[in-house]
Amino acid sequence: MATIHNLGFPRIGAQRELKKALEQYWNKAIDQAVLLETGRNLRQKHWQLQADAGVEWLPVGDFSWYDQVLDLSLLLGVIPERFQTAGAVSDLDTYFRMARGRAPSGEPASACEMTKWFDTNYHYLVPEFIVDQNFTLSSNRLFDEVTEAINLGHQAKPVLLGPLSYLWLGKVKGEPFNKLDLVEELLPAYGEILNKLKAQGVEWVQLDEPILALDLPTEWQRAFELIYTRLQVKGLNKLLAVYFGPLKENLTLACKLPVEGLHIDAVRAADEIGTVLSWLSSYQVLSVGIINGRNIWRADLDTLLETLQPIKERLGERLWIAPSCSLLHVPVDLAQEEKFDPEIRNWLAFATQKLDELSTLKQALDHGVESCAETLSNARQMINSRHSSSRIHKPDVKRRCADVTPKIRQRTSPFETRMRQQTYLGLPLLPTTTIGSFPQTAEIRQARHQYKTGELSETDYQAVMKNEIDLVIRKQEAMGLDVLVHGEPERNDMVEYFGELLDGFAFSQYGWVQSYGSRCVKPPIIFGDVSRPKAMTVAWSCYAQSKTDKMMKGMLTGPVTILNWSFVRDDQTRAETCQQLALALRDEVCDLEQAGIKIIQIDEAALREGLPLRKGDWQHYLDWAVNAFKITASGVSNKIQIHTHMCYSEFNDIMPAIAAMDADVITIETSRSDMELLEAFEDFHYPNNIGPGVYDIHSPNVPSVESIIDLMNKALEHIPAERLWINPDCGLKTRGWPEVEKALVNMVSAAIFLRTGRSGKKSDSNSL
Ligand code: GLN
Ligand code: ZN
Repeated sequence: MATIHNLGFPRIGAQRELKKALEQYWNKAIDQAVLLETGRNLRQKHWQLQADAGVEWLPVGDFSWYDQVLDLSLLLGVIPERFQTAGAVSDLDTYFRMARGRAPSGEPASACEMTKWFDTNYHYLVPEFIVDQNFTLSSNRLFDEVTEAINLGHQAKPVLLGPLSYLWLGKVKGEPFNKLDLVEELLPAYGEILNKLKAQGVEWVQLDEPILALDLPTEWQRAFELIYTRLQVKGLNKLLAVYFGPLKENLTLACKLPVEGLHIDAVRAADEIGTVLSWLSSYQVLSVGIINGRNIWRADLDTLLETLQPIKERLGERLWIAPSCSLLHVPVDLAQEEKFDPEIRNWLAFATQKLDELSTLKQALDHGVESCAETLSNARQMINSRHSSSRIHKPDVKRRCADVTPKIRQRTSPFETRMRQQTYLGLPLLPTTTIGSFPQTAEIRQARHQYKTGELSETDYQAVMKNEIDLVIRKQEAMGLDVLVHGEPERNDMVEYFGELLDGFAFSQYGWVQSYGSRCVKPPIIFGDVSRPKAMTVAWSCYAQSKTDKMMKGMLTGPVTILNWSFVRDDQTRAETCQQLALALRDEVCDLEQAGIKIIQIDEAALREGLPLRKGDWQHYLDWAVNAFKITASGVSNKIQIHTHMCYSEFNDIMPAIAAMDADVITIETSRSDMELLEAFEDFHYPNNIGPGVYDIHSPNVPSVESIIDLMNKALEHIPAERLWINPDCGLKTRGWPEVEKALVNMVSAAIFLRTGRSGKKSDSNSL
């Protein structure tokens, strides 16, 4: 018999119950008992659902109030000093303070840093280690949940981030030291956890070590041997789980570790299965992560069975099957979706459906394909319909992609020539601009919502939006900004807006995926060849341009960002899908030129996020990503000024790729890092115009004129004034008008001062 297990189930709830309860608790609308009850109910429901699908070893510890890495920090007592209370044990409120930034006194304290979980769109809270870090078990939650699962009659398999991945993901604070020095302290703590679990009657524990799918320094590889040799608890089996990529040079290391089972990502590392099998010891279990935990497509069960059958013959009972990684990264249940086109719906599988797929695979492996012939045949039909559907395959789009030549991704002339031809724009030295969106007030959101539900007619909706654009233009003119924007009131989200207007996209009603804490995203689903039925932004941009004599910047989201924030089809490469997006957006850029827009910004907020986990794969990604951007940007004449925007500051390591995008102007986030980014310019000459952010839009504080001048002076040490712009870090949509107006007035004053040596308008320089 093959065994089904699961690495983790989405905890947020099919209806985002956890999100809602958390936010109510934080707003003091419910008390802790109600919150705890919501969590308990969700766990119970999710375990039952998994058990009903035939999952034999149920994950416990995958539930989290905020983040599983933060859970582990609490369990191990890794609580930064600013959150500690004298003598008190860490409780749920300490936990939320760490996540959300409050000292025990209630005063703001900087929250634990949050960063991307490998190459997913989930974010974890970064553990902070100090030089004499202690690890003392400080939370009972995991053990309590194990008891809870056992009492419900389940076979609990606790899930824990392994010691080395935990250390790797943390950050050293204060005096520098090698994180591996903490191993001696950390090991006994893990030993204690495992012993306690054993005492509770646990048979299997899953230790996640996803860093084995990364490029690891030799000393970290060696640490694996050392730690896992010592981490032995008699009678307790360890399943070492690796996911998100192939093991590559860590393969033999992983296979030789003294653990009772190994889980591999058989989706992303399908071609390693054979080698892993040949290294596996005769006592070890192999968990084959065969169902894609990172995507929402129905699996091709016939093909998967072909892979699994020989493994089953070889391993027998020692074969486990599972999703490739935790199902945290996919929505909960397709069954509750009511609005999908039936054809598209047939192609999909969310977390719950993925467990059903595992169950069918097990049935076929244990009892032969005849035993589930009907299910398999249904699945086959749907897969075949996807292969041949004219909803997906558009000969025109495919032809256009095949015809792409290097020429179409090249602007007509090099940057210097373009710059000369763009002087007609009449921009001053150090031009000021913003990144696109202005505060999205409740009224704007309401109007968009009412328009969607039909409560507001097209004409009335247009009127509300135009009104807002008028207002935003008047404000920008009054503030004295040089290049204006229309403010993006019509956009709910920078990706969804375009997805809804492009062909080849589908949207779920409840396809939420946790991004961090209570925040969820509902990624669009790119199911087919992408094309643009009609212009998407031109009317808004033209309307806005008609209302001002200043330059109005056209605004669209770039192909790489749309790709990276969507569920992407798996029947062609990401590069191909990205190229289709690029061609569709290129038409939009050309239409904007035709309509008289002279400056066009193509946002690539998520370009860096798409970097593969292994450095060796970076160049290939950067090549196609940069090419896609260039396809989008290069259909226009030299006179058109192309801007791009990126929401991060660490691009020292990808600077050549950023330069290769050849945007006339790039605006980036820098204010929080105090222009540290610009140090990269010492080693690498960035040739085009650049606007390093001088206003941290993540905070309600208003930057003073002096602080902006200071930042710009730092920037001027690295980049000549002729190539510098002055702008905020990012869009202003989440901010309030009063602070935004003050900040931008200060920004303009700083620009005037820097241009003329004289101060501009008098301004408020205090924070609100
Ligand atoms: N133009 C977008 C805005 O201003 C850019 C947002 C982003 O970079 N995340 O909102
Ligand atoms: Zn941004």
